[in-house]
Amino acid sequence: MRVVRTVEDLRGALAPPRRDGSRIALVPTMGALHEGHHSLIARARAECETVVVSLFVNPAQFGEHADLQRYPRRERRDADLASAAGADVLFAPSAEEVYPPGFATAVEVLGVSDRLEGAARGPEHFRGVSTVVTKLLGMAMPDVAYFGQKDAQQVVVIRRLVSDLNLPVRIQVCPTVREPDGLAMSSRNAQLSPDERARARALPEALQAAARHAGEGQRSAQSLLEAAREAMLARDVEPEYLELVDPETFEPCEELERESLLALAARIGQTRLIDNVLLRPSAVPAPRQTPPRKAIA
Ligand code: AMP
Repeated sequence: MRVVRTVEDLRGALAPPRRDGSRIALVPTMGALHEGHHSLIARARAECETVVVSLFVNPAQFGEHADLQRYPRRERRDADLASAAGADVLFAPSAEEVYPPGFATAVEVLGVSDRLEGAARGPEHFRGVSTVVTKLLGMAMPDVAYFGQKDAQQVVVIRRLVSDLNLPVRIQVCPTVREPDGLAMSSRNAQLSPDERARARALPEALQAAARHAGEGQRSAQSLLEAAREAMLARDVEPEYLELVDPETFEPCEELERESLLALAARIGQTRLIDNVLLRPSAVPAPRQTPPRKAIA
C-alpha cells in the first residue's frame, strides 16, 4: 500500500490504473479505523480494482474545538488496518493541502442538512462534510465511493450533492457494523470510560426496543419513540434527539406507514454518539386500544 500526502501524488498514483480502465474506489474516513471502516474497505476491494482510503480529520465539520482536539489520531495503526483490509493507496493529506491559503468555497446542501445532526451540531457540520467530500471526490475522481449507514443523514446529504452537482460517481452504502453487545462501532467509542461504555448500550437497546414494538404492530411514532426513550432512561442516558423520520428527506413521521428511520444521538459523559435503525411497519397492525365503555346508568 502506498501512502500519499498531496493531491499531485494521489493523481500520480491513480493515473496508471485510470488509464488501464480500472474501477477506482474511494473510502473517505477520519481515521482511528475499526471494523466498520474495515467492512467498507473490504467491500471496495471486492468490487473495484484500485482502492483508495482517505484519512483526514476535517476541521471544518467540527463545531466544538475541544471535540476536534479529542478526536483520536493513530495513523500508523490506521495504515496497517487499511492495508490489511485491501487498500492500495492511503491518502493522508495535511489540513493545508486540503484548505490552502485563500480557500473560499463551501458546498451546502439545503433542507436535509438543517435537521437532526445539522440542528444539533450547527450549520457548519454538514457544510464541512459536503465541502470535504466534494473535494475528495474531485481529488480522487473515483468510480464508486463507500459510506456507512451508521451516518444515515450524511449519506442523504452526499447522495443529494452528487446528484445536484452531476458528479460522475456511484455512492455505495454499507450496513452498520456493531460490537457483540450491539453498540455501533465508532472511533469515538475509544473515548468512553468502562462505566460510560456500559451506559452506551442504551443506544442499541433503544433501537431494539423500538424495532420490537414495530414488530408487534405498533405504528404510532409517539409510542415507538416512547419505548426507545424508556430504554435509554433505564441506563440513565438522556437522548439529545430521538426521532422517527423519512429516510430520504429526514422530515418527521407521525406514523410508521412505510420504511422509516429511527435516529438518535446522546452524550455519554463528554462523548457524543449517534445511531439509527430502519423500521418497517409490521404486516399486522396492533389492535387499537379502545377506551373502556362507559357504564350505562
Ligand atoms: P468516520 O471515520 O467516522 O468519518 O467514518 C468513515 C466512514 O465509515 C463513514 O462513511 C462512516 O459512516 C463509516 N462508518 C463509521 N462507523 C461505521 C460502522 N460502525 N459501520 C459501518 N460503517 C461505519
